[in-house]
Amino acid sequence: MKYKRILLKLSGEALQGSSKNTTNIDPAVLEQYCDEIKGIKEKGVEIAIVIGGGNIFRGGQAEALGIDRVQGDYMGMLATVINGMALQSALERHGMYTRLMAGIKMEQVCEPFIRRRAIRHLEKGRIVIFGAGIGNPYFTTDSTASLRAIETQSNVVLKGTRVDGVYTADPEKFPDAKRYSKLSFQEAYEKNLNIMDMTAFTLCMENKLPIIVFDMNKRGNLLRVVNGEEAGTLIS
Ligand code: UDP
Repeated sequence: MKYKRILLKLSGEALQGSSKNTTNIDPAVLEQYCDEIKGIKEKGVEIAIVIGGGNIFRGGQAEALGIDRVQGDYMGMLATVINGMALQSALERHGMYTRLMAGIKMEQVCEPFIRRRAIRHLEKGRIVIFGAGIGNPYFTTDSTASLRAIETQSNVVLKGTRVDGVYTADPEKFPDAKRYSKLSFQEAYEKNLNIMDMTAFTLCMENKLPIIVFDMNKRGNLLRVVNGEEAGTLIS
């Protein structure tokens, strides 16, 4: 495998899949995530995961509901813990060992994030899920992904999305948009390509941490990406 330790960023919104019930979690998506993750686990890859909370709550939605923005951000962070717990349970059902570590203390459900302990879990082959973002409002789970990847000395941030990479324009609106297979951070910045929010992007750029944007819904793609095959857009 090209990458030994990876940080996989999964969006909360994708977890919703076709779920129409109040859980906002589609069991088929969970199942598919587990299959993909198991595929790379079996190859000995050390796996850290950040999962978003957009299927449940985003801080940006708060004000329209008469909720204070900061309060809303904390609600969003708690949403990521709910998704993290769901993913943890599903991964364990598939025979994988996991730890959920949160940026906000909640001892009854998960460990607090302690960098050295997170690294130790990874070395022992446990899949570490980082919940509750970085524990501060006004940040996103993309920023959490970049920061935790740097802190845990991961080799790459893998951003699993529903598109197969970064395009010259939005491929859903412009059918003749072209996909980049590779980009430098500078090019991505100059072309204002929407890869991650600026905080997340800058953290990766300044720390020379490559990002790969790829389609997480396509079977076998995660394994291809971790193996260094061209299956998305590499920003480095
Ligand atoms: N959030 C936050 N600080 C963090 C991480 C997340 O305040 O460090 C909040 C923020 O309100 C965000 C929400 O949690 O909208 C859910 O995360 P995100 O929108 O990144 O999830 P995704 O879009 O990946 O599903």
